[in-house]
Amino acid sequence: MLVLGRSDVERLLSMPACIGLMEEALASLARSDVILPLRPVIRVPDSTNAFAVMPAYSRALPALGAKLISVFPANHGTDLDSHQGIVALFDAERGNLSAIIDAVSITAIRTAAVSAVATKLLARENARRLAILGSGVQARTHVEAMLAVRPFESVKIWSRHMEHARRFVETFGADERAVFRVAATADDAVRGADVICTVTAAREPVLHGAALQPGAHINAVGASLPTTRELDTAAVAMSRIFVDRRESALNEAGDLLIPISEGAITADAICGEIGDLLARSAPGRSSPTEITLFKSLGLAIEDLATAMYLRREAERDGSGTWIEL
Ligand code: NDP
Repeated sequence: MLVLGRSDVERLLSMPACIGLMEEALASLARSDVILPLRPVIRVPDSTNAFAVMPAYSRALPALGAKLISVFPANHGTDLDSHQGIVALFDAERGNLSAIIDAVSITAIRTAAVSAVATKLLARENARRLAILGSGVQARTHVEAMLAVRPFESVKIWSRHMEHARRFVETFGADERAVFRVAATADDAVRGADVICTVTAAREPVLHGAALQPGAHINAVGASLPTTRELDTAAVAMSRIFVDRRESALNEAGDLLIPISEGAITADAICGEIGDLLARSAPGRSSPTEITLFKSLGLAIEDLATAMYLRREAERDGSGTWIEL
């Protein structure tokens, strides 16, 4: 069995390669080639901590396995990540465990790559101003992912602690691809932005519909429980909505479930899955002034597709450690 750590993943998995992998994984989901149960989540009592098990099977890859991941938001800013875990990959024909791979790095890269796929399909071609709400792990990979699919000229960063936004911007100081700035408020970041990525652990809205400009595209990534959200009802109600998977959205996405419970939208407001757009079985943006929203929850098939790729690449270049249990 092959063991791949974080440095192996970061070396073997480029953002452009992962964007291609996510296009294939989401397209295969649209073809119903994938078995993907809803993920069980244990919410650790008296805390915001959680533990999730995300299994999947794909005939096409072929792949069988699961991601095991803990989400301990208070770890942010300590020596531990807020997300920790493994992807366990099994041989889909013989059932043996074939690889264990660091899930922190896979999650960081594949989530941003999925947002890139959505942005490529839904954002205006002439999008040049990017706003990122959040300054953690996902904020960093989302900058890379967004720059891979549109030539953004400016990037505004807002974070709950302004000092964190400042530090984040400083790390991009010498980056010549775009001008990076700190925004004083989330609304300041969002105003005038063509693409907005919400990548915070907020439980209450940080993105307000009133600040959105016509034609904006939103990647809503941070909230993944039915009771938490990053977007207010106005932002959701004014958007043409797409999801990674409808069944997951209707069970897990507070960003959509709370406006549905308020009667502001119905489940029919979900226009399609990203895989439908890739398969051209659903229309995407219909005008330059429409606001589009991609609600991301993260799917086990994204992790398995990435793990299969990493295992192949590692075998090719001799990375990782082989062990017997
Ligand atoms: P990090 O722990 O690295 O960063 C957390 C970020 O959230 C920081 O920028 C922090 O800001 C901000 N934050 C925390 N609490 C609040 C709050 N109450 N209000 C506003 N901002 C807040 O996390 P990640 O970057 O790894 O993940 C970000 C979010 O994305 C998480 O909620 C995570 O669960 C989710 N996620 C979603 C995935 C998907 O597939 N859709 C996959 C992976 C993660 P500051 O530092 O200023 O306090």
